[in-house]
Amino acid sequence: MLTDRFGRSIEYLRLSVTDRCDLRCNYCIPKGFKDFEEPANWLTFDEIERVVAAFARLGTRRLRLTGGEPLLRRNLPELAARLSALPGLDDLSITSNGTQLRKHAAALYAAGVKRLNISLDSLRRDCVHDITGSDSLPRILDGLMAAKQAGFSPIKINMVAMKGVNEADIGQMAAFCIEHGFVLRLIEAMPMGDTGRAANYLDLQPVLEQLRRQFDLAEQTTALGGGPARYWATRDGRFSLGLITPISQHFCATCNRVRLSVDGTLYMCLGQEQRFELRPLLRAGISDAGLEAAIAEAIELKPERHEFSEKPQKLVRFMSMTGG
Ligand code: SAM
Repeated sequence: MLTDRFGRSIEYLRLSVTDRCDLRCNYCIPKGFKDFEEPANWLTFDEIERVVAAFARLGTRRLRLTGGEPLLRRNLPELAARLSALPGLDDLSITSNGTQLRKHAAALYAAGVKRLNISLDSLRRDCVHDITGSDSLPRILDGLMAAKQAGFSPIKINMVAMKGVNEADIGQMAAFCIEHGFVLRLIEAMPMGDTGRAANYLDLQPVLEQLRRQFDLAEQTTALGGGPARYWATRDGRFSLGLITPISQHFCATCNRVRLSVDGTLYMCLGQEQRFELRPLLRAGISDAGLEAAIAEAIELKPERHEFSEKPQKLVRFMSMTGG
């Protein structure tokens, strides 16, 4: 079992399989950004499998594939099948923007991915265009419907809620999720890089109070995922709401995860710089035991908490580089 200096068990790995994305969400990747990782530095499928297998031997039960846009990594279903077959791992999920799901949903489901998070900030085409930099809503919705048909469950919709941008769309998003049986997750914008800092932060606590009254929501005690969201639901279970509130009510005390970026860097915290490079060790032929020792050493670096509120200027890295 991996335990950090603060007694937290680390049993959840987020793996970025690419730092590239076909969208340019204005709170994430800067427009015109070109400084993507060289393919020579991407971990290969064999290297990824070795690292994930080592994490699984050390007690990691949950793995989420993310990016960038993970579906842009060629042959992702093949990687998913290899990872889902690893002993010890019992939950493989993906976070995606949905644009490529029509093509890949069935293959990913067959490969053992059963849970999906899809990012969608509005159902208004012009709003999605403004946020993502392209007319992407029709493709996202088509991908979402393909995922529903393929059988993924649950499907969670990640909505970064922003003041004056899409806060008025929350009601429509809730109705859409009720209609399709999706879980709605509202996320507070984080000051990651200049893009994240420029986002119109919205405190979700008053939003929660309003939605609780409107839908008569009760807080859920059983977790609906391995991540940081807190959940509420209607008594008949028709509507589930998740809140990710890194700013207004942070959840660092129960943080159970680390992130591996496409170049093999382990990031200990979304909001801090502590990191550990695994790629040089992998390419120098490190043994399995050595790899496990290196991961345990890396976990020692995990900081107690982020400082998004106290030091919002601190982080130069934006979300797609670490893997959201
Ligand atoms: N491309 C995939 C997607 O769109 O879901 C996966 C990667 S994306 C970086 C993962 C999540 O991070 C998305 O839900 C996105 O909205 C969120 N995100 C990106 N930048 C953020 C920021 N500054 N604050 C809060 N969430 C952010």
